[in-house]
Amino acid sequence: MSSRKAIGIDLGTTFSAVAHIDAYGKPQIIPNSDSERITPSVILFDNGSALVGTVAKNNSVAEAERIVDFVKREMGKPKDQFHRAFDGKTYSAEELSALILKKLKADAEKYLKESVTDAVITVPAYFSDAERTATITAGQLAGLNVLQIINEPTAAAVAYGLDKLEQDQTVFVFDLGGGTLDVTIMRIEGPEIRMLATNGDHRLGGKDWDDVIVNMVAEEFDREHGENPLLDLQSYQDLQSRALAAKIQLSSRGRTAIVHSYNGKSVKVELTREDFEKRTRHLVEKCKTICELVMQEAKLDWPELNKVLLVGGMTRMPMVRDMVSELSPVPLEGDVNPDEAVAIGAAIQAILVMLKEEETSGEKSLPEDTRQQFSSREGGLMQVTNITSHTLGVVLWDENQLEEYVFPMINKMSPIPAIAKNHFGTASANMPRAVVRIVEGESTLPAECTPLGTCDVKLPPFLPKGSPVELVYEYNANQVLEVAVHAAGNVNKISIERNTGLAPSEIAAAAAGLAELHVA
Ligand code: AMP
Repeated sequence: MSSRKAIGIDLGTTFSAVAHIDAYGKPQIIPNSDSERITPSVILFDNGSALVGTVAKNNSVAEAERIVDFVKREMGKPKDQFHRAFDGKTYSAEELSALILKKLKADAEKYLKESVTDAVITVPAYFSDAERTATITAGQLAGLNVLQIINEPTAAAVAYGLDKLEQDQTVFVFDLGGGTLDVTIMRIEGPEIRMLATNGDHRLGGKDWDDVIVNMVAEEFDREHGENPLLDLQSYQDLQSRALAAKIQLSSRGRTAIVHSYNGKSVKVELTREDFEKRTRHLVEKCKTICELVMQEAKLDWPELNKVLLVGGMTRMPMVRDMVSELSPVPLEGDVNPDEAVAIGAAIQAILVMLKEEETSGEKSLPEDTRQQFSSREGGLMQVTNITSHTLGVVLWDENQLEEYVFPMINKMSPIPAIAKNHFGTASANMPRAVVRIVEGESTLPAECTPLGTCDVKLPPFLPKGSPVELVYEYNANQVLEVAVHAAGNVNKISIERNTGLAPSEIAAAAAGLAELHVA
């Protein structure tokens, strides 16, 4: 079999990172073709080309109508719910994501001077199966064999080597990136990892801190020159970059100055770390509230944690680190770069998956050195136990048959595979069929849940009201929900594959369509 090369990809909302295991068995970040260690997850459509990364990001305000960013927020939506059209073609979320992955793959190949065949791609712990499947599809469209999809906090734990420790661990992962906050608590028992709770704010991230500086400078400009520098796109974009740079400076220095020029006029604003922290206190408080909420959801007290991991570029900020250390008595883990940990963990996991595949198939595809370095590694392959991200329920009539409500069969956060059985009575006498409506969602009101399908079974005549109907929900590791209804000796079953936007038959056509586009 020809040799394979695997990478780990942290496919982020605002930035993505790629890592691999080098010839010495060490995980390394792969810089992109501009020598940057992270690549903005931004696409600029430009005359038949898709430009991904910093070039696109630098034009994100000036050419807003030709730009796609934050595509991760749309993953899992079918094309009729989300698409973007450029140069006469429409692109689904998977296709757009695939363009980012194509660029990451191409840059990695250029750097490594070999073809990249396989990847582990990370997703947030809260991602639903539709979002996960869409991520796999995006990888396939980019020409990658997707070995596994793993949760970002799991990847961070692997990067920190927590899967190799002898004692079981309860781990708190605080991940604050450019556009999102994710807080997850997990339990690592040997190679098994369980998500205990996860929560976050997907509209809270580094950009909110940047915006505070942007607005401060704009107000000062207005005060001095009577003009709003944010009305001009170029000026707005410049100020955004300056604000981001100033924020990063304040992580290592006590003060900084932002100079901004527009329309031949300029302004200089001095900012101390203390003042900046005061102005952004409300943002840190929001993060703190979410941390406390997740602890409550996991039913844990702070001293029960063994490890606290900081992930995401924003956790380099002293005020963010201080907030987490004040909450938790456990020292913060800090020997892996916070914005690189997820990609590095994914790269390690990729090798472990391939080793496992070699063991099962007997076919050798890894470089000999890598095999030796990893075969002797303590700790096994991190078993990825996925959890259901939403409750899977059934719609029932209440006792008086006045109102319908949702009965939860498999609760949110249950480990997959999951199985649930329950008995119900037929709603009325002499029903011709028992019809089961399957829904997804946390509400007890059917209208607030997403319908997934129905399964009905024929009933013999003259059954009295309340005759037993057995319902079995089985959610398997491939994230397919199988529902079986048993009543009066009859059985009917259905399999529900979640709507992922693209049908398998559409994948080949979509891949061919993307191939026409030059990605750089
Ligand atoms: P990520 O998505 O994890 O790469 O995080 C990116 C966010 O982290 C952006 O908002 C960056 O501005 C921010 N960031 C990166 N490095 C630093 C730093 N040293 N201090 C403050 N923020 C940073």
